[in-house]
Order: sequence, then C-alpha cells, then structure tokens
Amino acid sequence: MPEEQKFKCEQCIRVFGSQEALDMHNKAKHSLTKDKKTEENKSRKEHRLFTKKIRNLFIFIVVIGFLIFGAVALFSSSSKNEDVTKMNIIGHQNAALHIHSKLKILIDDTEQLIPPNIGISQGVMRPLHTHDASGEIHIEAPYKRDFTIGEFFQVWEKNFNSSCIFNYCTDKGNLTMIVNGKENFEFENYFMKDGDIIIIEYNSFNVQSKTNSVNENGKTNNKK
Ligand SMILES: [Zn+2]
Ligand SMILES: [Zn+2]
Repeated sequence: MPEEQKFKCEQCIRVFGSQEALDMHNKAKHSLTKDKKTEENKSRKEHRLFTKKIRNLFIFIVVIGFLIFGAVALFSSSSKNEDVTKMNIIGHQNAALHIHSKLKILIDDTEQLIPPNIGISQGVMRPLHTHDASGEIHIEAPYKRDFTIGEFFQVWEKNFNSSCIFNYCTDKGNLTMIVNGKENFEFENYFMKDGDIIIIEYNSFNVQSKTNSVNENGKTNNKK
C-alpha cells in the first residue's frame, strides 16, 4: 500500500492501514470524531460564556449588596453615633427621649460642683445637659438612642475615663465608679439609664480617706 493512502491520526500522528482502524483508534484513544470534537468545543465555549455571565451577574449582585449595606450602615451610624457635642436639640419640644441620671463626683471626699446649664448656651441645647447644680443630667433626644456618661463629660469638656477624672489620674490615686450602689468598670463607656445614680470617686494615695489608708512606709492599702 502506498504511503499516501495510509490513514494518519491527526491527534498523535500514528498511521493506520484503513479508515476503520483509524476510526477505532480515534474512538479508543481520543474518544471523539472530528464532528463531535467541534461540537464539544462549541458547547464548551458556550458553557464558558454562560459561566462568565453568571460570574459577572454574581459580582454585580455582591457589589450592589455591599453598596446598599454600606449606605445603610453609614446612615444608621450617622444617626446612632452622632457626635453629642455637635447635636443641637434647641429645646425640650420633640423629645422622643427624656430621661435623667444623677451624677456625684467626689475628690478626696469633697463633692465637686456640677454646674447648671452644662450643654446649654445661646440657641444651643445638647442632648446631655444640666439645668441646675443638683447633679441631675437631663438626657433628651429627638430619637431613641443610648448615651454614655463619657458623652456628658464631652459636652462638659472635662476629662473622664478609666484613668482620670478631671486632672486627677490613677498614677496618684484610686478611681472608682459606682452605679446604683455597685462598682462599675465601664467608666466613660457606661450607657446611662433612667434613674441611675452614678458616683465617681477619686482618692489620692497621699490623702487619708475613708476608703484608703497610708502606712508608715508611704505604701497604700486599699480596703475594698
Ligand atoms: Zn429633663
Ligand atoms: Zn432639659
């Protein structure tokens, strides 16, 4: 048989004696006929195109989802965590929230003045304010929202956190916060509730007080 009449496999360049032998080889080794292959390629392409479309759609949905989520988060955080030192409720009308907490500050057993009209000035009323010097904090807002004791100190423009009350800090004394008779360790992060009685107490190491005593070596013993 002349060379030209032999049947070559296009996949692996093997040569066969007859078309049947080539077909059998194709079936066995490549499991495809030419027609089938192009068809498969076409459907594979279509499949790829389809997956690409699905993927793009998925990405689109995810992106839109994130945008909506972000917008909602931004909106709710802007109203929930509005800077209390920038909020102005102007007056007592339209208050959806109006509760009170009582604050007492003791520095070395001396009660500190909490002046009237903290948070109140010409045309301005902050959601946290005082009307008198009784230590009553008025908590009023046009929508329901929690406020921390720390936010009251922000309005007052005074220091309060777990290490300082005013300029009295824990390097020179003990700082405790008592809410409704119980020691509280949240300090400035404590969310005030209606009727709370909050006592902030600072006792210097070098001052003899009810809760602290200093021994001869100058060391502090805390009685708790
Ligand atoms: Zn009030
Ligand atoms: Zn008020």
